[in-house]
Amino acid sequence: MSNNPLKSHFRAPKMFTRLPSGGDFYTEGVVTLKETGELEIYAMTSRDEIMMRNPDALLNGESVAQIITSCVPAVKKPRELLGADVDALMVAIQGATFGDEVKVETNCPECGNTVIGAGSVQASLATMKDVPKDVKVITDDNLTIELRPVTYETTIAAGVSNFQNARSMQSIANIEDDMEKLKAFNDSYMKMAELNFLVILDSIYSISGIDDQEEEFIVTDRDNIREYMENCSSNIGKKVTEQVNLLGEAGIDKNVKIQCQEESCGHVFDTNLEFDPVNFSTAS
Ligand SMILES: [Zn+2]
Repeated sequence: MSNNPLKSHFRAPKMFTRLPSGGDFYTEGVVTLKETGELEIYAMTSRDEIMMRNPDALLNGESVAQIITSCVPAVKKPRELLGADVDALMVAIQGATFGDEVKVETNCPECGNTVIGAGSVQASLATMKDVPKDVKVITDDNLTIELRPVTYETTIAAGVSNFQNARSMQSIANIEDDMEKLKAFNDSYMKMAELNFLVILDSIYSISGIDDQEEEFIVTDRDNIREYMENCSSNIGKKVTEQVNLLGEAGIDKNVKIQCQEESCGHVFDTNLEFDPVNFSTAS
């Protein structure tokens, strides 16, 4: 490849973006930021765009991981990225590939008229909310539980599980026998509870304290943390969940204000920009 006379015609970076995490919370070798804290973003290749159209690969996160590898060379391990950072990168890649404007089409909540508006990739990236640092829970017995936002890997697992759950809820509605129905509902509920537990576990990156010998200790072993969370009082789980929700607010803002074009209406309302990959493919 190094002797290819076409090399100087390969794609060049189209734009730069920061990350909501600022590159914190990562082990070495996941992503390398420039000194400015930014990353170079390249447009998608035709191979990337084809990848976008594979629904199976989208569902398990494989396409997104490959597209990030292709369009953001500074990311070496896309599956270890935080979900908020993946969101920001996918928006930036969309901007680098299709331009700054993102079309949005929705119905006016006042009059029902179809409203077409547009949002801006740059504006969305410029107003991203940083992931707060040093988010922790201190227990009554003086353990410090340090938290981080969930990884993309867990986001994907949650997405797949929500999808399966919505499906099983549909089929539960068709079960005629009441006992069977109750059992199916219970199974589904237990799966969701287990998923919530996994999200909480993924959000804890260390638990520290002082032992009987007055020595400080810090636990990062996943099995030890899991065992602790399975055996601690429920109010600790609740406190952790509250903080995890705070962390979840970080990232890009997908809201955009649009106005109904129907003359007699003119209602102004908020709508969501669809930055998800499924919509990319139809936008091209
Ligand atoms: Zn209207």
